[in-house]
Amino acid sequence: MQSKLFIDGKWCDALGARTLDVVNPANERTFHRCAAGSAADIDAAVAAAKAAMAGPWSRTTGRDRAAFLRAIGAAIEEQKQTLAEIEVRDNGKPLPEALWDIGDAAYCFNLYATYAEELDARQGEIIGVPDARFQSRVKYMPAGVAGLIVPWNYPLLMAAWKVAPAIAAGCAVVLKPSEYTPLSALELARIAAEAGLPNGVLNVVTGYGADAGARLASHPDVRKLAFTGSVPTGIAVASAAARDVKSISLELGGKSPIIIFDDADIEQAVEWVMFGIFWNQGQVCSATSRMIVEKRIAPKLIDRLSVEAKKITIGDGMAPGTLLGPLVSKTQYDKVLGYIDDGKREATLVTGGGRPSHLNEGYFLEPTIFADVAPTARIWREEIFGPVLAVTTFDTEDEALTLANDSEFGLAAAVMSGDLKRAERVADAFEAGVVWINCSQPNFLEPPWGGVKKSGVGRELGTWGLNNFLEPKQITAYTTREPWGWYLKGGG
Ligand code: NAD
Repeated sequence: MQSKLFIDGKWCDALGARTLDVVNPANERTFHRCAAGSAADIDAAVAAAKAAMAGPWSRTTGRDRAAFLRAIGAAIEEQKQTLAEIEVRDNGKPLPEALWDIGDAAYCFNLYATYAEELDARQGEIIGVPDARFQSRVKYMPAGVAGLIVPWNYPLLMAAWKVAPAIAAGCAVVLKPSEYTPLSALELARIAAEAGLPNGVLNVVTGYGADAGARLASHPDVRKLAFTGSVPTGIAVASAAARDVKSISLELGGKSPIIIFDDADIEQAVEWVMFGIFWNQGQVCSATSRMIVEKRIAPKLIDRLSVEAKKITIGDGMAPGTLLGPLVSKTQYDKVLGYIDDGKREATLVTGGGRPSHLNEGYFLEPTIFADVAPTARIWREEIFGPVLAVTTFDTEDEALTLANDSEFGLAAAVMSGDLKRAERVADAFEAGVVWINCSQPNFLEPPWGGVKKSGVGRELGTWGLNNFLEPKQITAYTTREPWGWYLKGGG
């Protein structure tokens, strides 16, 4: 496992010699130490990225860059087991889910390799203009040095969602992973170096948000800032970026609804509601954490959910059969327990609500369900980011939609119904960037990803993700020798 910063193709200690402890959330023990980069390290990394942009990297074609991306994708796939085990120790998630994430990360690099190749064909495309004397073309320039700040819930995958399109576009980047899960980003740096990616194109600075992160967001030489994390940090980052009018994309929090109509298949609903809130310990930005269920089927569905939630195997992510690992950190654990305390006062606890009795260390929490949750309750309105489901009921479709859309967030939403026309109608009415019909959470990397309202700005993934790191440049040529005639006509 790596422990140093990766700047300009070299491993180096943090200039302030500070380190951060890497804790296994399953046993609360520190198992590794990493360099904690500060503002000065970010400055060195940005300088390396800037120098890379000034060198041969800026003359590479999409095809050239695709070769690096494919080599990185192949190496991630080859080292999947090792990378997944690092992710489990660092983040706590069950191994099968970590393997899933790493597979997706490899796929992401391969997908952006294809988009990079396709970009070459788009270069110089002619844009029709209504004057035959002119020819207008568009070329796509890399946005410049990109600062990439990512959270801890899918450490390598969130990094891949940004690094792959940035490299495909021809940017040089500085990646700052979360201080809670720094390890897989450093492995990505190693893999990229082994794949021959030129020095300075990918720099990784591990460190705390308040110093390394804040400096990256405000560095004047960073032209593009791509951030995934919480709303308060997103606001701070966007404010810092605004001072230099940086291009920004923000993927922030959510409090996504899942509406269940009485014609939905109950067992199918049980499966998707559970996956939608308990997968990855509920630490999912798009988790469908608010269940809005038609009154007639509410008692039966809540009862079935309670029975199934109790069957979930909780334990160390490395133990075979584990479905729910620990939360990522003590901070997150205490935060979620605080919400559960609120819930016990504000609503009816159906199941869970505490530490599983067989686990006396680690940040473990039972899958928790609250019913009779009022739309004013904190557990209804705020993002908990843990395995906590809040449930309310409705009588009419309008009422369900009002409840669903009454949120400052708008990342995702789901609807379950046997009536596909109704499901489509509801999908159209959701105020959200991502909508699932008769499922919740499956995510492909080709469609756009992102939210409306306070859930973010812009879209990642697919070609939208690539466009985030490109600046279109129009080149318009006057193709005739005919005088333009402005002063001749004007001057008589
Ligand atoms: P966070 O906002 O605490 O931290 C995110 C990153 O920002 C970390 O790398 C952190 O070190 C850094 N950071 C902290 N303070 C900073 C500052 N002042 N300036 C610059 N960087 C700073 O979020 P988190 O707890 O790591 O992640 C959970 C949040 O991420 C949740 O709100 C979740 O919904 C959101 N999220 C969103 C998506 C999405 O696609 N919309 C995906 C995953 C997670």
